[in-house]
Amino acid sequence: MSDCLFCKILAGEIPSAKVFENDAVYAFRDINPQAPVHVLVIPKTHIPSLDALTAENQESATACLLAIPGIAKAEGLETGYRVISNVGEDGGQTVKHLHFHLIGGKKLGEKMA
Ligand code: 5GP
Ligand code: ZN
Repeated sequence: MSDCLFCKILAGEIPSAKVFENDAVYAFRDINPQAPVHVLVIPKTHIPSLDALTAENQESATACLLAIPGIAKAEGLETGYRVISNVGEDGGQTVKHLHFHLIGGKKLGEKMA
C-alpha cells in the first residue's frame, strides 16, 4: 500500500528504530513511547487491522504474536508486559496497518479504557 505509513517504514522509505525482524514480522520502537518500552510489532504484509483478519491471512497476525515473547525477553520485560491492538476509530487506531503495541518496563496501570 503506497499511502500506508507502516508499509513505507517496511520499504525503508521512512526511518525506524528496528528491534526485531524475521520473514513475516518487523518490530520497531514507537516514535511516541507511552512507557519505557514501547515497541510496534507489524506483519510485513499489509492488513488494515485485526478486523480484516481472515482464515487466509491469519498467519500474518499469528507471526506477530509468536514473535512477541522473544522481543519481550530481549527488552528485559521478565516481570510482564501488555499487548494492545487498536481497531478502528473508536479503538483509537491511527495507522491502518495491523500492529501490536508491546508496552512495558514499568508497573502498568489497571485501567485499559
Ligand atoms: P495506533 O494509534 O494506530 O494504535 O498506533 C500507531 C502508533 O504509531 C502510535 O503509537 C504512534 O506513536 C506510532 N507512530 C506514528 N507515526 C510513527 C512513525 O513515523 N514512526 C514510528 N516509529 N512510530 C510512529
Ligand atoms: Zn501497510
